Amino acid sequence: MPHHVIIGGGPVATNALETIRQFDDSPITIVCDEPAHSRMALPYWLAGQVVREHTMTADDAYFKKLDVDARIGSRVTKVDTSANELTLSNGGTVAYDNLLIATGSSPVALPIPGTDLPGVTPLWNLAHTQGVLDAVEGIAKPRVAMIGSGFIGMIMLNAMYKRGWTLTVVEREPQILPRMLNGEAAAIAETWLGKKGVDVHTGTTVTKITDAGGTKKIELASGQSIEADVVVVAVGIAPNVDFLEGSDIEHTAGTGGAVPVNDRMQTNISNVYAGGDIACGPVLFGDDEVHPIQPTAVDHGRIAGANMAGQNVQYPGSLLMNILDVCGLQCASFGQWQSGADTMTMNNPTGNVYRSLVWVGDQLTGATFVGQANDMGMLTDVGMAKGIMQTQTSLGPWKEFLAENPFDIRRPYVAAGVAAKLRNTTLIGKASKMRQYQFGGAKATATPSAEHAVFVADRGVGGS
Ligand SMILES: Cc1cc2nc3c(=O)[nH]c(=O)nc-3n(C[C@H](O)[C@H](O)[C@H](O)COP(=O)(O)OP(=O)(O)OC[C@H]3O[C@@H](n4cnc5c(N)ncnc54)[C@H](O)[C@@H]3O)c2cc1C
Repeated sequence: MPHHVIIGGGPVATNALETIRQFDDSPITIVCDEPAHSRMALPYWLAGQVVREHTMTADDAYFKKLDVDARIGSRVTKVDTSANELTLSNGGTVAYDNLLIATGSSPVALPIPGTDLPGVTPLWNLAHTQGVLDAVEGIAKPRVAMIGSGFIGMIMLNAMYKRGWTLTVVEREPQILPRMLNGEAAAIAETWLGKKGVDVHTGTTVTKITDAGGTKKIELASGQSIEADVVVVAVGIAPNVDFLEGSDIEHTAGTGGAVPVNDRMQTNISNVYAGGDIACGPVLFGDDEVHPIQPTAVDHGRIAGANMAGQNVQYPGSLLMNILDVCGLQCASFGQWQSGADTMTMNNPTGNVYRSLVWVGDQLTGATFVGQANDMGMLTDVGMAKGIMQTQTSLGPWKEFLAENPFDIRRPYVAAGVAAKLRNTTLIGKASKMRQYQFGGAKATATPSAEHAVFVADRGVGGS
């Protein structure tokens, strides 16, 4: 049986190894420099809603149960595809038959003076999160300045808002969330942040950070300055590909260094797979892209795992989705959300409501939603719009219905049979199994009701 080796311990890695185990008992080795955990859970730890251990997604017992040789704390420094061998930072080597590269991405640096000061930090991993919690220890109302207002930065900002900290955001572009919302939608979110006491500076850059007795002074090109106890630098990410230098695994400048993959998650080397933040792969609408989000990482892990285990499954493509709580204002965008030639827009800034639906023919290919967290209708509409896009359903006459009734997505969703399609969709032709890891060995205690069971019980599509 082939020896599968996975580099990484995030959602791509854990989903891949659990998927392989759905098919066979072949040997699996996982190499990761951090404990296996979910970066998506870090905001809950930062907000004080869970403890650090709750961000973990695997432990020794889990790896033992799945018969996985886990090299946690080891870093891969080189891949030799002609010898089918990895080199580790301790000088050791690991041979593979199939390799999955699932090394994710890292924050990029901001090239200005002062970013090396204590208390100036990215906020991306376990160590950064612990560092921020340590830095504000003993400060009654910490002041945090966030440089950059991208999706992940704003997720962490929301966690700090829950803590009641004093927050400032600096964004170089003329609007916040420039890669997630258009100007009209972002204006609603920015006004909302102002009402929540968050100080937002857009259209200006940080030129320098200095420290006087622990207080950081952030100087802006606009001439203003901000004082903070902690400065978070969140100005973008880049895929972790340093260890691929010198290998013949393609990772092109055109995709920001990411690794191109086909619809089986194979790289240009057929026994080397890649997935998640590091991979540039098929998307539902448009050309191949990097989608550095959790749902894409999970899908990539499952597709790669199935194919490594000898199956032949093709990925239809990922749907870009960013769903964000901006201090109580829900913002979401999907697919090709940037307004196109055929876009329906509803903008009500006084009601804090914005929606746009982007079409190609009668197919919904992108959408944006802004609305308050207590607007249940909006929250269910977000899910239904996502389902319509994921199933690539042609809505026919229901498109005109939506033009007249933009707040009634439910009718087209039901009439076009989207729920039924979703229910019968599996990524790998086999229903997924319950995760094998529960924190502290906890068991799920809830029993699904009859209505709920239909969604969570075995769907009978080819096994457990
Ligand atoms: C704070 C935060 C909040 C987020 N929230 C959301 C959210 O709400 N929704 C959403 O969709 N997405 C969210 N994301 C994004 C999501 O977490 C990522 O898209 C996802 O983790 C990518 O999974 P991955 O398996 O590709 O990589 P990662 O989860 O990054 O895992 C890769 C692992 O490989 C390790 N590694 C790297 N290089 C090497 C090497 N050479 N040798 C050994 N190990 C190596 C890394 O240290 C890391 O532990 C969030 C991300 C962050 C940081």
